[in-house]
Amino acid sequence: MSGTESCDVSPVVRKSRLNVLPSHPYAENPDGAVNPGRFPPWLHRKLPSSTDLAKTDGVINKHRLHTVCEEAKCPNRWECWSHNTATFLVMGRECTRACGFCDIATSKTPPPLDPEEPQRVADSVRELGLKHAVITMVARDDLPDGGAQHLVDIVAQVRAYCPQSTVELLVSDLGGSEEAWLTVLNSKPEVFNHNIETVRSLTPRVRHRATYDRTLQLLAFAGSHRILPKMLVKSGIMVGLGETEEEVFDTIRDLKEAGCNTITIGQYLQPNRRKLLVKAFVTPEQFERYASFGKSIGVQNMYCGPFVRSSYNAGLFL
Ligand code: SF4
Repeated sequence: MSGTESCDVSPVVRKSRLNVLPSHPYAENPDGAVNPGRFPPWLHRKLPSSTDLAKTDGVINKHRLHTVCEEAKCPNRWECWSHNTATFLVMGRECTRACGFCDIATSKTPPPLDPEEPQRVADSVRELGLKHAVITMVARDDLPDGGAQHLVDIVAQVRAYCPQSTVELLVSDLGGSEEAWLTVLNSKPEVFNHNIETVRSLTPRVRHRATYDRTLQLLAFAGSHRILPKMLVKSGIMVGLGETEEEVFDTIRDLKEAGCNTITIGQYLQPNRRKLLVKAFVTPEQFERYASFGKSIGVQNMYCGPFVRSSYNAGLFL
C-alpha cells in the first residue's frame, strides 16, 4: 500500500462496512480527480500508526455497546479509535426513522430499552479514560418521551463513575416534545448537539420526519434553557448532497440566529447503494469559505473540512 490510503480503506474494517465508491459522480471536476471508482485526492490521507484501535474495540465489545462510528461507517474510525475516542450509539441499533443519508437499520418496533445500558456506557467511558464522552441515539419515536429519560440516566451514571469527563449529547428531535427537550437539558451536558444535516430545500429528501424548522426550534430552546452557562449549542451540516454555496450560507445564518455557537460541516459519503448519491465532492477551499463565512457573522466555533463529522474531535471547543 502507498503512503496515503483512501478514507474508506482500513485493514480491520470488513468490506461490507465501507462507504460506496462514486460510480456516477455528477460533479464537474476540472482536474478530473473525481472519476468513477475513485475518491478525490483530498479524501485520501495517512492513517495513524497507533495500535489503540484494538483496545477501543475491545472495550466496546466487552460492554456490548454500539457506536455510530461503526453503524454509520464513519471514515474517521481508524483515527478516533486509535485515540481511544468513540461515540456511543444508545437505545439500540435500530432507528424508527429512515433518513436518506443514514446507514443505521430501521424498525418501527425496536427492542425495549436496556436498563443496564447506562452502567455499561459509564464503565466504558471510565475504561477508555475519555475526557469527553459523546453519546448519541437512534430516534425512538415508539417511546412516549423519545428516550429522554434514558439519556438522563446515562448522563447520571457517567457523572457518577467518571466525574472528570465532560458529556456531549447528540440527540434526535425527541418527537418535538418540549417536555422531553427540557428533561434532557436538565441533565446539564457540557455540549448539546442536534444536527440540522442539510439545507432547507433538501431537508424533505435527506431527513425522515425531522423538519428544518423544528431543528431550529430545538436549538433555540436549548440555548434559552441552558443550565450550565457555558454549555455549547452545536449543530452539523453534511455537504455534497446537491446544495448551493448560498444555501449553506443561509443555513449557517439560520443556525447562528437560533443561538447555535458551534457548527460542523463535513463531506457526505454514500454508505450503501440504497442511500442518496454523492452529488459533489466539496473541495477543502470551499470548506474554508464556509468556515470564514460563519466566523464573519459571529459563530464562535466553525469546524469545517472533508473529514469533519458532528463528533469528530468533539472536545476541541471545551
Ligand atoms: S468522527 Fe465521531 S463517529 Fe466518526 S469515528 Fe470519530 S467519534 Fe466515531
